[in-house]
Amino acid sequence: MVDVRGVHKWFGQLHVLRGVDLRVGAGEVTVVLGPSGSGKSTLLRGINHLERLDRGSVRIDGELIGYRRAGRTLRELKERDVLRQRAHIGFVFQNFHLFPHLTVLENVTEAPIATRRRTRPAAEAQALALLARVGLGDKAASYPRQLSGGQQQRVAIARALALEPKVLLFDEPTSALDPELVGEVLAVIRSLAETGTTMIVVTHEVGFAREVADTVVFMDEGRIVEQGPPQEVLDRPRHERTRAFLSRVL
Ligand code: ATP
Ligand code: MG
Repeated sequence: MVDVRGVHKWFGQLHVLRGVDLRVGAGEVTVVLGPSGSGKSTLLRGINHLERLDRGSVRIDGELIGYRRAGRTLRELKERDVLRQRAHIGFVFQNFHLFPHLTVLENVTEAPIATRRRTRPAAEAQALALLARVGLGDKAASYPRQLSGGQQQRVAIARALALEPKVLLFDEPTSALDPELVGEVLAVIRSLAETGTTMIVVTHEVGFAREVADTVVFMDEGRIVEQGPPQEVLDRPRHERTRAFLSRVL
């Protein structure tokens, strides 16, 4: 499903990803933990080519993302082709990124109508079903500013689902929320996991990782230091740096 191989990224002299390999099978949930600056967001953004990677490759269902093979080298795809690929990769940001001037319903239907040429009635019916699924069936006519942070993030999740993505990427989806709103967003993500959605979730919520992740990945200084089932990585970490990190966040 998601296959990341030998990925490197430099920002100028700064070597931010230093050979990352990651595989996520269909229907699996991978949670990525790691200290600030370890490269988690850069990796996630690299997966859908929001960030250009300097070495290595990302494949989703076998399709190379952001590039095409030209003989022995890789050529970057045209923006239009990158957008087409990105439409199959859902991305949920820390700060929701909803369109403030559109209603909740319009936020969810905008992309399917624009990029999938769905009719408005079909897109709206789907959007209402998705909003019900994230517990916001009664908020379709509201504007983002009228919602709590947790509700806005649930709209962002519904919007990502509307394109029926092959994989959903979450970059710290709860870290901008007041503590009492974290649970409702994690509950939605957990329910997606139960229905077999393939996801990569960057979060500091170790309890969530323990309950929901198939695989926990610990990143530090641009590398995956340790990965495995939550019981191993969280309860019996083998690396000193994982232990030090967990003792700080737990
Ligand atoms: P956090 O937990 O704080 O979100 P992170 O693990 O997501 O951290 P990244 O955002 O991936 O870390 O950043 C990794 C490193 O790359 C950091 O040193 C950061 O300062 C640097 N970096 C990220 N984006 C850029 C950029 N656009 N230009 C230059 N340096 C960058
Ligand atoms: Mg980050």
